[in-house]
Amino acid sequence: MNACLLFPEALAFRYSTVSANTVECGLMGSTPFGTCPLCQRASSKVHRYYQRKVQDLPISGKIVKLYISTRKFFCQQDSYPRKVFAERFGSCLRPWQRRLERSNEQIQAVGLSCGSKPGARICEVIGLPVSASTLL
Ligand SMILES: [Zn+2]
Repeated sequence: MNACLLFPEALAFRYSTVSANTVECGLMGSTPFGTCPLCQRASSKVHRYYQRKVQDLPISGKIVKLYISTRKFFCQQDSYPRKVFAERFGSCLRPWQRRLERSNEQIQAVGLSCGSKPGARICEVIGLPVSASTLL
């Protein structure tokens, strides 16, 4: 099976490891450049890398953790105050999000239909652990 098909187009699959309860996947941005959120110019000049740990939907009942190697780019526009920006992954993973958007949609659906504490128990069983206060 082609693992690239499991993830949004903005993310490129690198590796996976499977253990008893979890599947860990390494990913990175699929484009060779980033687009500055202020001046909208593309940049391929990398400042540094950092890792984002993100939750995804479960696979076969196993919790899926994504480790996304994220680049920070230098902005090419000298007159703007922001010199460095982090790459963006579109609507599938907004800045500061700790879960892919598709995981958030499922958690929200469970929360709306079951409430906070029962919903948190259901999410735990299906491999999408979340606290009751998050479901509220
Ligand atoms: Zn810029």
